[in-house]
Amino acid sequence: MIALGIESTAHTFGVATVDERGNILSNSRDMFKPELGKGFTPYELAEHHYGISGEILDKSLKEANITWDSIDVVAFSQGMGIPNSLKVGAALARYLSLKYSKPLIGVNHGIAHIEIGKLKTGSSDPVIVYLSGGNSQILAYVSGRYRVFGETQDIPVGNALDVLARELGLPMPGGPEIEKIAKNGGFTDLPYVVKGMDMSFTGIMTAAIEKFKEGVRKEDIAYSMQEVCFSMLTEVTERALAHTNKKEVLLVGGVAANKRLQEMMKVMCEERGANFYVVPQEYAGDNGSNIAWAGILVYNSNGKLSVEDSRVKQNWRTEDVEITWLK
Ligand code: AMP
Ligand code: MG
Repeated sequence: MIALGIESTAHTFGVATVDERGNILSNSRDMFKPELGKGFTPYELAEHHYGISGEILDKSLKEANITWDSIDVVAFSQGMGIPNSLKVGAALARYLSLKYSKPLIGVNHGIAHIEIGKLKTGSSDPVIVYLSGGNSQILAYVSGRYRVFGETQDIPVGNALDVLARELGLPMPGGPEIEKIAKNGGFTDLPYVVKGMDMSFTGIMTAAIEKFKEGVRKEDIAYSMQEVCFSMLTEVTERALAHTNKKEVLLVGGVAANKRLQEMMKVMCEERGANFYVVPQEYAGDNGSNIAWAGILVYNSNGKLSVEDSRVKQNWRTEDVEITWLK
């Protein structure tokens, strides 16, 4: 079986093809990049996705060297995400499903990040640290669902890094830029905000921007931002390990690419005797292969989605999904 997966929850439009064994046959994508100093609006994202979707679809089919005869299902990211962006992927998926008479599958974006991480690392029952531009959650599989043990109370850590980078005059996406300049930085104090199992990143981001305006070097700001945010995440992850008695940690989502974060989590896991896994960089950020692979899992256990039920779900949380394929 081969699934075509379409990703369009936020900045990235991607189309991939994946087979039932988890081989990635193709993975094409394009990320909307705002001008220096600017963010993006939902309208701009949708325009970008509409403009590029045909090209990315063609590229993906060419890369896999397959035609529609060999594709069995069409999966798309149904939520959570930015409605304008989500609707582009959903419309394309419905069209392709109807035109080529292939079953339609709606995939939860967070679940897709988790399942590609498990597929590509061999991790089986981890505490999951899911960090992206739109989410920051610590989860674990308990009684049929990936339950949230801790999460941000305000903005996601990826978003905090992106906004800070913009204020520091760095290009988007900001996370990798912060990581680069942090290598030449030293520590300046920033608030550390963990409340029970939850975290908050807005106050840290605002304090970091204030310090920059007061004349603190941007390298020091970047270094300290990473140290503080990643320590908070590591602390909560360690507590989730203790609560759940799990023996693995799996880092997924775009921020998983950060080497300093990986290092902190790895040290914590070693000290607790847990195995540490991180999703390979090419599958860390948003991309179609996450969606195609989760599409296969969903289709095999739940069957197809009707077009009537394929409305996008802006606030579809990870723990709302019953994980029928693990039962
Ligand atoms: P996603 O939403 O999963 O595609 O992830 C995108 C987010 O990951 C953006 O906020 C990026 O700034 C962030 N990101 C990507 N690479 C890195 C990195 N090396 N360090 C920190 N954040 C990163
Ligand atoms: Mg994502």
